[in-house]
Amino acid sequence: MTDPFATRRRLGRPRKIPEPEAVTPVATPAPARSPERHALDLALTDYRTPCADDDRFLQDRIPHDTGQALSALCSKCRARPACAAYATTEGPKAGYWAGTPYGDSRRPGTKQR
Ligand code: SF4
Repeated sequence: MTDPFATRRRLGRPRKIPEPEAVTPVATPAPARSPERHALDLALTDYRTPCADDDRFLQDRIPHDTGQALSALCSKCRARPACAAYATTEGPKAGYWAGTPYGDSRRPGTKQR
């Protein structure tokens, strides 16, 4: 008959495994946003802007006639004041914001197509 405790004796007394330390979840702070960005977020909460899903607003270089069309869309947008404040403050690197091109199309010497 085999000894059912032989293996246990060979291994010795079981070591006490320490209890894992309680991990306190740490809240990740949200990135700081400017008041202008916050105001723009609020303005867009329940409003679908004319620029939504329109890739022309994302272009670096905006042809003149396209710029006029985009400006007409912006003039109908009720989020325009908040959009203009955000763009003026943050200075986006590209795109068309509140009727104004930003990025490459604003650089001196850049030709509009
Ligand atoms: S004003 Fe700003 S949010 Fe409104 S359509 Fe123009 S770019 Fe979009």
